[in-house]
Amino acid sequence: MPGAATLLRDVFGFDAFRPGQEEIIHTVSAGCNTLAIMPTGGGKSLCFQLPALMRDGVTVVISPLIALMRDQVRALRAAGVEAGALTSGNTEEETAEVWRALDEGRLKLLYVAPERLAAGASLGMLRRIGVSLIAVDEAHCVSQWGHDFRPDYLRIGELRRALNVPLAAFTATADTETQAEIIEKLFDGQQPQVFLHGFDRPNIHLAFAAKDQPRRQIMEFAAVRKGQSGIVYCGTRAKTESLAQALGNAGHSACAYHGGMEAEARRNVEHRFNSEDGLIVVATVAFGMGVDKPDIRWVAHADLPKSIESYYQEIGRAGRDGASAETLTLFGPDDIRLRRAQIDEGLAPPERRMADHGRLNALLGLAEAMTCRRATLLRYFGEQASPCGNCDLCDTPPETFDATQAVRKALSAILRTGERFGAGHLIDILTGNATDKLRARGHDSLPTFGVGRDIDRRGWQGIFRQIMGRDLIRPDPERHGALVMTEAARPILRGEEDITLRRDTVASAPRPAVRAL
Ligand code: ADP
Ligand code: ZN
Repeated sequence: MPGAATLLRDVFGFDAFRPGQEEIIHTVSAGCNTLAIMPTGGGKSLCFQLPALMRDGVTVVISPLIALMRDQVRALRAAGVEAGALTSGNTEEETAEVWRALDEGRLKLLYVAPERLAAGASLGMLRRIGVSLIAVDEAHCVSQWGHDFRPDYLRIGELRRALNVPLAAFTATADTETQAEIIEKLFDGQQPQVFLHGFDRPNIHLAFAAKDQPRRQIMEFAAVRKGQSGIVYCGTRAKTESLAQALGNAGHSACAYHGGMEAEARRNVEHRFNSEDGLIVVATVAFGMGVDKPDIRWVAHADLPKSIESYYQEIGRAGRDGASAETLTLFGPDDIRLRRAQIDEGLAPPERRMADHGRLNALLGLAEAMTCRRATLLRYFGEQASPCGNCDLCDTPPETFDATQAVRKALSAILRTGERFGAGHLIDILTGNATDKLRARGHDSLPTFGVGRDIDRRGWQGIFRQIMGRDLIRPDPERHGALVMTEAARPILRGEEDITLRRDTVASAPRPAVRAL
């Protein structure tokens, strides 16, 4: 059976776990009773779907929302996982197909609506099919005092006793009374493993910077931290070697680490890093699993990480001892282009590639966030947070400007050309740069032709990048590079919402007219 990390990548198409997921999945798949409290949007489903694939037999999932169950079943099937649902919304064929899959022992996940538990036949059926795990979504529905009480949830405890299998309960409701009630009703009062993490690592200072002279930026960052243990993550093996060399020449103790090195050499670096003080390891993402060092004082990214999940995992290696730690992540247009190309050239189905572009947009949004970076990061994981006072944007808030007019122009250029062109061509239209391609398509006679002359090319590039970061537009994976609008763009286009952007990446943006006193 492949390990959790392999399944994460090959079945679900994700490159890293979100905070909390790995530990929860480890515990659930080991067959321990588990109660996990995670914010909505934090990624609970994966915490029972992945263990279901790691265990023999069927995992029964109980969830109160039929639409949600059907969505999950559809997504699992699209990923090649045998899953089915027994709900009142089923057609007869659907139900027959679920039974066939169960009889043939093919099914891995069976979603069951709670009201089905009231039907006497269900227990007999569940006994027969070899259930090895019960997963309960929205477990707070068992609480009689909550808003979402579902009487049928009270039968789940009975089911667990009858089947005598481990149970994993998930909820976003964190108050202690609800937790106690879940433990009493679902686990008969026996203490399960409880996971309740805040995701925040407040001692880690967060900072991003646009790549200017990346080698120099990393060297300067390391220079003021001489003698401290740190990691520099790079996008390529070659870069780890050359950067380690440069750091060594500057008097640091530094070595490279990547997947192309002999196992022996890699173990040697891990050992040195864990036992020596003040070593810098310049590595690809292959470095991390064997690292167990509480006092890593800094982590720098010489290239943009793959996703917000990998970013969080990689910076999270710093400051495990709780003392303050520093991070710096560099990003540039080439990083983004490379990631986009990797998504477009991948073999994933179009729907998943579109979602990958959306996730990359979120990473871009974090890189060019306007307010507290930590709050932006935690919001992505579903947690609310106020400004932290320990990130570059809290230290020095960026200058912003009202970009509503400019963004409307950009969006209408996209719409008027049928969502079929990339940023370069759209910027030609906006700045009135009548190229041959543009004339051949008659785009020089569009009403948007030349309406954005007040902003230069670089400024427009900054605007396009930032509105991708807000996920107003995404590249269409089926039409190479063509930008299409998302739902989030419509209120701005219709004039119902305004939008503010950072000025630093749009240097030529129009300044507000100075009013005479
Ligand atoms: P919850 O049930 O906690 O509200 P979901 O399980 O629906 O959250 O997950 C929320 C979103 O996060 C989904 O779009 C899911 O695909 C995505 N997600 C979950 N885990 C990961 C991961 N490790 N990497 C990237 N995206 C993830
Ligand atoms: Zn902050």
